[in-house]
Amino acid sequence: MSAGVDVEAHRGVLRSGLAWLYDTEQPETAILQHHGESLVSQDNRGVRFIPSGCSGRVVIVVDVTKVEYGTDPRARGPLNPLTVGELDAFTGLLADLGHTVVHTWNGHPAATGSLALAEPAHRSLQAAVSRYLAGCPRHRTTLCRCGWYGEGNRHVIGVRAVHQNFQSAAAAGGLHE
Ligand SMILES: [Zn+2]
Repeated sequence: MSAGVDVEAHRGVLRSGLAWLYDTEQPETAILQHHGESLVSQDNRGVRFIPSGCSGRVVIVVDVTKVEYGTDPRARGPLNPLTVGELDAFTGLLADLGHTVVHTWNGHPAATGSLALAEPAHRSLQAAVSRYLAGCPRHRTTLCRCGWYGEGNRHVIGVRAVHQNFQSAAAAGGLHE
């Protein structure tokens, strides 16, 4: 039963990722590749935040950080996959944070699982990804080595910066109480 899976430890990381996806205004010079950005979470999990994945939707990907495989050649898949019901539990936590999951895929017995959200990402973040997908304006490719991407990517307000702001705000709040 999914009710047995506790994903509460990931609330802080999800809240930061959602604030990055939906509430962070990116500069007009920002360029972001379409795989988005990720945060390290608790319990051997990492969470990736993809501004426009499947059908242009926001996709959140939960990954087992260190995947273990056994030595038995007949065994399939990882020894430590996502647990049964883990994606359902993430769906519940996201609902609690105000977001509707419209589709999930993978999950147990895989070591990765994805959740697509109903609401599109902040316009400015979508624009940063569109600038990436349009490619280097001078050389007309996304794989350009002229420094176009590195320069644009430096202007992105990253999810880690958003997460650090939340954490230091929480720490400061704790000191004042
Ligand atoms: Zn170029």
